[in-house]
Amino acid sequence: MFDKLKAAFGSLAQLATHRSLSEEEVDKILWDFELALIESDVSPEAIESINTTLRQTILGTKIQRSLDAETFVREQLKESIRKIFSSTPRVDFLSLAKQKAELRKNNHEVGPFLVLFLGINGTGKTTTVAKVANLVRKNGMSVVVAAGDTHRAGAIEQLSEHAQKLKVKVITQSYGADPAAVAKDAQLYSNSHNIDVALIDTAGRIQTNRNLMEEMSKISKVVSPDLKIFVADALAGNDAVSQAREFQKATDFDASILTKADADVKGGAALSIAYVTKKPIIYLGVGQGYDDIIPFDIERFVSSLFEDRST
Ligand code: GDP
Repeated sequence: MFDKLKAAFGSLAQLATHRSLSEEEVDKILWDFELALIESDVSPEAIESINTTLRQTILGTKIQRSLDAETFVREQLKESIRKIFSSTPRVDFLSLAKQKAELRKNNHEVGPFLVLFLGINGTGKTTTVAKVANLVRKNGMSVVVAAGDTHRAGAIEQLSEHAQKLKVKVITQSYGADPAAVAKDAQLYSNSHNIDVALIDTAGRIQTNRNLMEEMSKISKVVSPDLKIFVADALAGNDAVSQAREFQKATDFDASILTKADADVKGGAALSIAYVTKKPIIYLGVGQGYDDIIPFDIERFVSSLFEDRST
């Protein structure tokens, strides 16, 4: 994915010298990397963090062959990317849902594992709710979905259609209804029908809309979700990063799901969102089908970033 790094690696030939490099020489090499990362949609904050680590390691190291230089810097680069992902907390969605389902078995007062999906329209949020509903069911748990976007024309029908295809119960109210009331309905329905997991779709007008953020806070207060998941479009690059920042400020979400990873040739959004929010990416959407969702795997992701270079 990071195919722009090719040129930057080319500049590493300079590293092959018997003396330590001067700060100026290292800065010049890092500048090439910086440009490559910018072109791969990595956000400035994440680039700074990566470059600081790279700078420290390159400055103090004498490398005598250009091949070694390339391997050395590539490993350092991979390591600083790994660090960004591994410093986020661990959120194991299915285990958390199963734990709560177990609790419910012994105590019927315990409600469903309630999950709020946040993010702007068009990112693939509704499709992701359907994919996760499918995943939950395949893992032996019962599930309902709730149409909490009561603003956008067609949103309720869209989720209902997915639910019908998946044969999953959908909770709806009419357009204009209070989304917090829809979420509450989903919670009450789950309580009375012994449902393990309730997935709430929400509205997604542009991220700077203050009412939207207030709406999300209200839903949170009314139903106290177990998990708040931000859904971002990998193709939106740095826009996805600013959306993540905005939503995190308003909702303090727990994790992100990145959609359209199948079409993403750059790879920067995942890295930047994890870096900026300090929250884990838990799944990647990899297509339009209900099974097209895979757990995010740090090693697999890091290797995929460098794959194009080695071929
Ligand atoms: P929402 O407005 O955020 O609810 O977005 P939708 O769920 O309606 O999705 C918008 C479009 O993106 C639809 O055509 C989806 O099929 C498509 N989509 C969603 N997730 C993925 C994904 O992981 N990969 C691909 N290629 N398309 C996706």
